[in-house]
Amino acid sequence: MSGTADLHMHTRYSDGTDTPERVVELAAKAGHRAIALTDHDNTDSFAVARAAAQRAGIELIPGIEMSAAVGQAEVHVLGFFMDFAHPGLRRHLSEQQARRLRRIDRMVEQLQAAGVAITVKDVMAQAGDGTMGRPHVAQALVARGHVADVPEAFQKYLSPGCPGFIPGSTVAPKDVIRLILASGGVPVLAHPIYLKNDALIEEFVRDGLAGLEVFHSGHGPAEITRYGDIAQRLGLVVTGGSDYHGRAKEGVAVGVVKVPYELVEGLRAWKTAHPALVT
Ligand code: AMP
Ligand code: ZN
Ligand code: FE
Ligand code: FE
Repeated sequence: MSGTADLHMHTRYSDGTDTPERVVELAAKAGHRAIALTDHDNTDSFAVARAAAQRAGIELIPGIEMSAAVGQAEVHVLGFFMDFAHPGLRRHLSEQQARRLRRIDRMVEQLQAAGVAITVKDVMAQAGDGTMGRPHVAQALVARGHVADVPEAFQKYLSPGCPGFIPGSTVAPKDVIRLILASGGVPVLAHPIYLKNDALIEEFVRDGLAGLEVFHSGHGPAEITRYGDIAQRLGLVVTGGSDYHGRAKEGVAVGVVKVPYELVEGLRAWKTAHPALVT
């Protein structure tokens, strides 16, 4: 069937700046047939967006982007078509929410110790409706006038080795991959360009990874070819999306990445072909 999709978008339920309804509206304007809202460690945008998607005639695919880590390297795993009510998934997500809140306190303490005037209240003033993360600290640093913009905040204060850095997740990729599989979903490695370690992809496949995000706003033609080849060689499902964050990510508009609807059918086919993994 024809049509286009965007399988990677963020809302106010993590570090995007738009409501789920607004993201659906923008997707409709871009002419998409299907989208997945993939908030970081949070699934709440799905229920909120549902009515708007129905009105707009857009297929809303259950999605998430889960944080994991290998040493200092962040690993983001997308999940599609999970049962959001799965107890193991729910437990993991509430643990991550709590951990992320404690992390904000620690980041603020570390920044204060480094002489940066900022409070937890400043960060909370930037919060959305769900998952808290470094982007909210970055926006608070901008609001307090410590830096000119979010990229500078990351560069000076929030990247590994900087005074405000604390890892976002200490969970192994294998564990989030298994949670996605256990809740009936299809685990896909997000934006492999940011990982910069193709050898890890094969390791994740041994852990149960099913797909690779070949199309992404951070991928140019060379990366699309490179990761497309890797996906083919390893027998992985291919996905793609914009990684839209609203105002939080300059230059990435809804519609910059449009993948064929066939990729949605590919995800569904993978799920149907692997019922044994759904517990
Ligand atoms: P967290 O999960 O709290 O560690 O935050 C990670 C998020 O911060 C990523 O998903 C990006 O949206 C954003 N981010 C990471 N690095 C940068 C950067 N250098 N500039 C702007 N945003 C970034
Ligand atoms: Zn994000
Ligand atoms: Fe990501
Ligand atoms: Fe993302």
